[in-house]
Amino acid sequence: MRSDALVPFVVEGAAVRGACVRMDDAAQAALASHDYPPALRRILGELLAATTLLAASLKFRGSMIVQLAGRGPVSLAVVECDHALAFRATAQWDRDALAGLPPDASLAALAGDAKGARLAISLDPEEGPLYQGIVALESGSVAALLEHYLATSEQLESRLALIAGDGGVAGIIVQRLPGSGDEDRVAWEYASAALAALPGAALVASDDPTDVIAATFAGRDVRVFRPRTPRFACRCSDARVDQALRIAGRDEVEAALRDDGKVVVTCEYCGKRYVYSPERARALFASGGATGTHH
Ligand SMILES: [Zn+2]
Repeated sequence: MRSDALVPFVVEGAAVRGACVRMDDAAQAALASHDYPPALRRILGELLAATTLLAASLKFRGSMIVQLAGRGPVSLAVVECDHALAFRATAQWDRDALAGLPPDASLAALAGDAKGARLAISLDPEEGPLYQGIVALESGSVAALLEHYLATSEQLESRLALIAGDGGVAGIIVQRLPGSGDEDRVAWEYASAALAALPGAALVASDDPTDVIAATFAGRDVRVFRPRTPRFACRCSDARVDQALRIAGRDEVEAALRDDGKVVVTCEYCGKRYVYSPERARALFASGGATGTHH
């Protein structure tokens, strides 16, 4: 059986925390709704692992949304993960342009040059305003890019190691907690060096993140916490699609009805199809339609 687990940990006696994640079935499920080319699939896998690691330390109910936008073959890649580690992903890309790139193509090659590409990270609490931080695409990897974001936007020194491939999707993060003193410096330097030296294969050497943590911090006292289970779950619903169609407008809907005799909306995250008969589609714009009632 393949595993989906996230294990938080702390380095004992030091202000260093971390988490290690392994997600195989869940990542596959999240990436199943599109036929992603291998290079894009790898980047999305790394983004899934990274976003789940970051969402595991959210202090509120809500979601973290990591969005890569560029002018390269991949124009958009989005990964969302909520406080309960339910995640979803989608992307938009140019199939012909991507076909010319190798499976191990760099992030910059996929998203385009640093001038046009950026990574936006949004924190979207169920209650309260959305917060968004943006970093330019100056680093070569998803891990380096997120380390840069965390250092500049969150003032949080972090090290990330990520892997996504045939061996599985996995990642590990360590963070130096704010306010940590000189006595924690040694522990932090040890932890960040351990991650910097970690070969990707070590991340998928075991299905169990606890084993990976033990191997990475061999000889150190590390306290691991109860494993959590990341899972694929989409947030699309009849109500959200109703709302999207109202925003698209009556003219759009009438044009679709003229062409197809119905309106079909496919969720870009999970691939679910929402089919509207002419009656149901037009009811969205009828007086009282704003309440979403239809039969
Ligand atoms: Zn969906």
